[in-house]
Amino acid sequence: MKALESLVLFIFLIYFGACIDESLEGEATQVVPEVLSYPNVDRELWTYFRSFEDAAALRGFNVDLSRTNITGEIREIHEENIAGTCSYGGGQPYKDVIIDLSFWNRANSLYREYIVFHELGHCFLFRSHHEACFANGTYESIMRSGNGNCRDNYRLSTRDYYLDELLTPLERP
Ligand SMILES: [Zn+2]
Repeated sequence: MKALESLVLFIFLIYFGACIDESLEGEATQVVPEVLSYPNVDRELWTYFRSFEDAAALRGFNVDLSRTNITGEIREIHEENIAGTCSYGGGQPYKDVIIDLSFWNRANSLYREYIVFHELGHCFLFRSHHEACFANGTYESIMRSGNGNCRDNYRLSTRDYYLDELLTPLERP
């Protein structure tokens, strides 16, 4: 993986779910303490970076995203229906998370978290996409690309499951 990383630029795209205005709406806003700062990361993303660290800490892992070379920005992505991207490798000296501004302006805090965590799943955890679905037609992982046929089901009641699943790479020795 390390050798490949230096030769190939990896770019992961995530598509809007069909349900941006439906199944994820109306969830309560999470209260996330705003502390720390993350160099080269847009300030609006800080609470989500922080809650990613908190989710890891709750599971016994010490994650400090301020010490990684991950950059984060919110800006228009001109390709249609892309909510976010992560790119790294190819001689790029940092891992770059970009969140689409139009998506950001439409999404509630839970869906914003979903997309930021998904991109950190690539750029911090080095996960690739996982499209599998449960029998009820919902995605097994927030690492779905959005090209599959299932539904997102990321809500306060399922958040713990999805974060357990997301963070499994941290359990590897
Ligand atoms: Zn992705």
